[in-house]
Amino acid sequence: MGHRIDVVVSGALGRMGSTVCAAVLADPGLRLVGGADLGVAGAPAVAGLPFCVPTLAEALDRAENEGVRDAAARAVVDFTQPNAVVGNMITCLERSWPVVVGTTGIEPEDMSRLAQLSVTEGTPALVAPNFALGAVLMMEFARTAARHFVACEVIELHHDAKIDTPSGTARRTADLIEAEWDGQGLSKSVPVHSVRLPGLVAHQEVIFGGIGQTLTIRHDSLARESFMPGVVLAVKRVGALQGLVVGLENIM
Ligand code: NAP
Repeated sequence: MGHRIDVVVSGALGRMGSTVCAAVLADPGLRLVGGADLGVAGAPAVAGLPFCVPTLAEALDRAENEGVRDAAARAVVDFTQPNAVVGNMITCLERSWPVVVGTTGIEPEDMSRLAQLSVTEGTPALVAPNFALGAVLMMEFARTAARHFVACEVIELHHDAKIDTPSGTARRTADLIEAEWDGQGLSKSVPVHSVRLPGLVAHQEVIFGGIGQTLTIRHDSLARESFMPGVVLAVKRVGALQGLVVGLENIM
């Protein structure tokens, strides 16, 4: 393993962000520098988080003032909201902070803009709609199945506080299947159904139908810890990437 990486968590007090803080603290190759969260006035503190300020720009100022200046050995992890993530990514790219993004709901035109900015600024970024290994495999298996089935629907199920619909994972799964079909000259979209209920975390079924048979590929994230090995891997790899990379499968 190389040198230790200093990490600022954006959305540090949220459900995902606070889990990321714990994962960073638990990894000897990473150091939790601080965090940003708009809700800092009201939310309970996160154990082991040295500071938390309302905006990411302030958090980066403070980290840099405390000596975190080596762009090759630092990263931001962003788990905020669809309306905040693009601005946060621009801040990171312009300030030479490699950024790992789990926030979903980034529109395709924003993604293209960010990809360009990542190249012009020379700051790498990794955006993954799902950091769970099993979910990445589910998408890979679905892509394989799409070579053999020409009918498919996706059902994604999440906790009732999730803001964006459909989920980023469902959008990405549908894109991968449609691209596979497109290569076969089949122009067709994959319907996506969304369920929002208390008690759920993050679940998805990809159902293929053929003559006299169906094939269901299902993944369940039962706890937010399921995303952490993927997030930690991304933090360790992001600095060496070129431009903006979408999907955890590219670094596994
Ligand atoms: P959450 O609990 O609402 O956490 C988001 C946090 O970010 C909140 O504390 C929020 O503060 C804060 N925030 C919002 N705008 C901000 C800004 N401009 N600057 C700094 N902090 C800001 O949501 P969550 O359940 O953790 O989910 C976060 C995102 O991760 C969602 O987009 C979700 O879909 C995604 N997600 C991705 C994966 C994956 O594997 N890629 C897995 C699970 C979830 P306030 O509450 O005060 O607004």
